[in-house]
Formats: sequence, C-alpha cells, structure tokens
Amino acid sequence: MVQTDQSQLLLEKDERYIWHSMKPYNPQATLVVTEAKGCWVTDHTGKKYLDAMAGLWCVNVGYGREELAEAAYKQLKKLAYFPLTQSHVPAIQLGEKLNELLGDEYVIFFSNSGSEANETAFKIARQYHQQKGDYHRYKIISRYRAYHGNSLGALAATGQAQRKYKYEPLATGFIHVAPPDSYRDEETAVNPRELKSVKAIDQVMTWELSETIAAVIMEPIITGGGVLIPPDGYLQAVKEVCEKHGALLIVDEVICGFGRTGKPFGFMHDGVKPDIITMAKGITSAYLPLSATAVRKEIYEAFKGTEEYDYFRHINTFGGNPAACALALKNLEIMETEKLFERSQKVGEQLLNELKRKLQDHRYVGDVRGKGLLIGIELVVDKKTKEPLDVSLVNKVIGICKENGLIIGKNGATVAGFNNVLTLSPPLTIEKEDLSFLVQTLTEALAQIK
Ligand code: PMP
Repeated sequence: MVQTDQSQLLLEKDERYIWHSMKPYNPQATLVVTEAKGCWVTDHTGKKYLDAMAGLWCVNVGYGREELAEAAYKQLKKLAYFPLTQSHVPAIQLGEKLNELLGDEYVIFFSNSGSEANETAFKIARQYHQQKGDYHRYKIISRYRAYHGNSLGALAATGQAQRKYKYEPLATGFIHVAPPDSYRDEETAVNPRELKSVKAIDQVMTWELSETIAAVIMEPIITGGGVLIPPDGYLQAVKEVCEKHGALLIVDEVICGFGRTGKPFGFMHDGVKPDIITMAKGITSAYLPLSATAVRKEIYEAFKGTEEYDYFRHINTFGGNPAACALALKNLEIMETEKLFERSQKVGEQLLNELKRKLQDHRYVGDVRGKGLLIGIELVVDKKTKEPLDVSLVNKVIGICKENGLIIGKNGATVAGFNNVLTLSPPLTIEKEDLSFLVQTLTEALAQIK
C-alpha cells in the first residue's frame, strides 16, 4: 500500500473539488476507488475491500467484466447516439429482451436513472386516466420509509421525512401509508387481504375517494427504509385493492430487479402482474446509466389517439442510449448464462442462515432477515423494547469492517435519523471464500461493540 504525499494530495483535492452526496452521513474517510474486479475494489493507496454493498448500486455481475466494456465500445463505434423519438437496434432488442424477462406484454420507455423512471411512471399513470376520461385521478399512494428518488416528484413519493423537509414544497398529490414491518409490528393476520398494511391502503383510497386515486407505488422489499420484507401475498393483495378502486400498481424494481432477491424481479415472488414496472441500475449492473419504465400494453394503447394531446409529451434526451442498451443486453446474457437469479436465491439463503447462526445471540442483533442476496441486520439496544441502536455504534461497526477490508451499508428509517439496519448486498457472483470473509469480518466487528 502506498501512503505517500501524493495520496494525501488526492484526498485534499477530493475535499476541495467534489461534493459527495450524504457527506456528513458517511463519517468514514472518503474512499477513492481506482479499480475493481469481481467483488473487490481497490483504493488509491492499493488497499483492497470486499464490496458487500455493491448491490445497493446494483453491480450485480461484479466489477471489471471485459465483455460489458467491449459491448459498449463496439456499439459506440457503430452508433454512439440517436434519440428515441426515432429508434435504434439496441433499444428494440433490449425492449424485446425485457418483455421475455417480464414474462408478459410491456412497452418500454427508457430514461437514465431510477428517479426518472419513477417520474415517467407517475406521468404515465396520471395521463392514462385522463386518456380514459377520468379527469380527477391524480393522487399517488406510496409508503413511509420507502425511497423512490431525488427529483421533486420521486422525493414526494419517498416516505422518509428527513430526506424531504428542506426541499419542500415538493410535487403535490402524494399520500403515504405504513408498510408492513414483520419485526416491529404485532401482525396476526394469516390471509394477506386482512393485513393491517393492506387494509390501510383500502381505507385511504375510500377516504380520499377512489375516483381521485391514480396509482400506488411500492418496492417489493423496501431497501432504503431498512430491508422490510413483506409477508407472502402482500403485493398480490395490494394489487387487488388497486383493482377494486381503479388505481394502477407501479412496482419500483430499482434495487430489487435483476436478481437481487433471487428472482429476475421482486414482484415475481408473489406472482402478481404490475401495471407499471420501473427499473434502473441493475439493468446494466451500474456500468452505464440506463433506466426503464415498463408499461402494460393495454395502458400504452390508451395513448394511441390521433390528436396531439393524446401523445405522451415526455422527452428524455439521453434515455435509451445505444451503448447503454448494448451493454444491458450483454449484462442480461451474463446473468442468464451464469444462472445468477437462481444463484442469488441459493447463495443468499446460505448466507442468511450462516449470519443467523453466528449473530442472533449477539446482544444488539434484534433481527437478521433477507431475500436472495439482500440482507438486513437490525441492531437494537434492547431486544424487548426494540429501541434502535444509536447510530454512532452502528457507524463503529461499519468503520471496523472498513478498516478490515469489508464495505457494508446501513439503512432504516424507523425514527427519522436512525439508521440501525446493517445492509449486505454483494455482487450476485460472490464466491464461497469471499462469503466466509464477509461473515467472519462482520462477526468480529460486532464482537467489538459487545
Ligand atoms: N428507487 C429506489 C428503490 C432506489 O433505491 C433508488 C436509488 N437507490 C431510486 C429509486 C432512485 O434511483 P437513482 O438514484 O438512479 O435516481
């Protein structure tokens, strides 16, 4: 490792020139990453870290895949750009591939980020009802603790007040309900239709008047709000409520999509058919910016009038960039050839069991939960009261891990400001010895805060 004046200078320049998101939230020194391969990233001093947070940025096939770089390079040489007001071959091929993966008929609108994919979905949902002569349906229901993006509409859908209150007024017409929290809620219902969290949506739609509701948006598993895994059948029950009130169901697959939870998409665990599906970083394993809003064909058909005001008046200059689409196609090919969806399910289950075995007796470990390779470890002061562990101790665990070459994340918005859920989401390609390193390093770090 090189600890030279030059590496110090680089850090000083970083401090001088770069505005990092969430800077004070990340109390550790900035990591300046210079290269990465597989699950491992190397910083500017040569130190290596296992990136067990890569799944939050969705580097699902791992770093440094030359096939992906080559797919983008080849496409850049052939056709670097053309807007999707017209068309190009990689976009058409990717649209077809996504339909195959989704297992149904969807029409795809491409953008560049998860936030944009969600904004697109909101506008489509609102205009769809108008196209059908339903002029009052504009409200969008989302859930507390969820994150849906940084723009003023996606942030309005977000259910974490601490991220929002300094930027208000946000887009209007967004209403929040509580998500199911299997660790903290006393929930006795066995039938998903009877779940408190499902009935709450039904009630809100009735109280707000069904004919004012455009859509519901939700992730299959809330990640940013603390890896909240709903009971089986929850999403299907929500879809039934939406149908009862004439609202659309938008599923945000920005993190859960492309194998993270052990299926191609998270909604597939419930066998539900969403009206709109948004997806982003995992589509290219985060190698290039690309996102997509997949819209059920029948909804798209409602925009096919002949008048100018029937069009979807929404343009995205860079959306569906040819190189990003070509790279995405190669990324999906790798996922299928290497059976990464199945792998995520199998390896995730092994990792979850191992973590439960090693950690559940730890004084501060309240809950270890996960689906596929998306795992949350909720830290609490007291297992009975479930009071969240102070974030300084959570940060200490993350800091010790980092010191020892392991990057993990934290999430959770039980109470504004609390981030007490350690989050693990390594690349779906993670191998056995790296999993052992992950479990051992984390166990040792937690042992130090006993
Ligand atoms: N939806 C979810 C569920 C997310 O986790 C994120 C960001 N991680 C977004 C939307 C926004 O994506 P982006 O940062 O690409 O705009």
